Amino acid sequence: MKLLDGKIVSQAVKDQLKTKTDARIAEGKKAPHLAAILIGNNGASETYVASKVKSCAEIGFKSTLLRLEETITEQELLSKLNELNEDADIDGILVQLPLPKHISEQKVIETIYVSKDVDGFHPESVGRMVQGLPAFYPATPYGILLMLEHYQVETKGKHAVVIGRSNIVGRPISIMLSKNEYPGNCTVTVCHSHTPNLKEICLQADIIIAALGRPEFLKADMVKEGAVIVDVGITRVEDASKKSGFAIKGDVAFDEVAAKSSFITPVPGGVGPMTIAALMMNTFKACEAKDRP
Ligand code: NAD
Repeated sequence: MKLLDGKIVSQAVKDQLKTKTDARIAEGKKAPHLAAILIGNNGASETYVASKVKSCAEIGFKSTLLRLEETITEQELLSKLNELNEDADIDGILVQLPLPKHISEQKVIETIYVSKDVDGFHPESVGRMVQGLPAFYPATPYGILLMLEHYQVETKGKHAVVIGRSNIVGRPISIMLSKNEYPGNCTVTVCHSHTPNLKEICLQADIIIAALGRPEFLKADMVKEGAVIVDVGITRVEDASKKSGFAIKGDVAFDEVAAKSSFITPVPGGVGPMTIAALMMNTFKACEAKDRP
């Protein structure tokens, strides 16, 4: 078993971006600039946004963090987004999800200019990705591809089973892995909460992407010997032995599955850091795209 180490790969991606950013600045060009919007006081969201802002600082990107009250109206939020859309210095905009119930996620996603949609959630970004046109790939699936590429995991002709069909992980990674390029050329099966014979399907998988949000759901008896396991899940479970009062669990029962796998991502330290690295890649690309007339 070999660990797909998201800490190492994300650091390599960030180091590369820092070199490129330093070169831009030496040429008198602007630093990439990411704007993040954080609404309310969700602990997990706070942590994610803090990591994103910290990564910007490490690479030499500018970042702007807008903290907004839980009570902000949808219209006020859309106005803020339009200000950021029109701000020429800002290259990428992200709104940390989930949003308060009174705000439409779809409206928020569709308000962000496609040219600044570094989370890759805008329907136009998704459509472009599906058609193989240049586009911002959603950060989590893009991070998974970067990691498979780094470790040169063979994907061509493999059977990839994706568990979960959300717009941010399951659906896009299933499309990306079926593309006629590396990492890709997989035969993909997408499973979800209405899949009756999940274990049977998983046992046929060369690659499993577990993105369902059920702690330690994927057990050793669901996995074929030598499979590649990518664990996207992040769930906080109560743990009195931790100072924070919780532990982070993935969707894979790591110890037992690791023993059967060829490659496996840990949680934490796997897909999580890669998501941030991919977001940084998208922000850099958004900035570079503006250099072109
Ligand atoms: P979601 O709740 O939007 O979607 C979950 C999907 O899993 C659904 O499509 C559902 O049909 C499927 N599902 C649920 N129970 C199932 C079951 N028993 N069998 C088969 N399929 C089942 O979740 P999401 O936003 O895609 O996130 C999934 C997990 O990944 C969560 O734990 C989330 O926190 C985590 N996540 C991690 C990162 C990261 O950076 N590592 C990024 C995004 C999401």
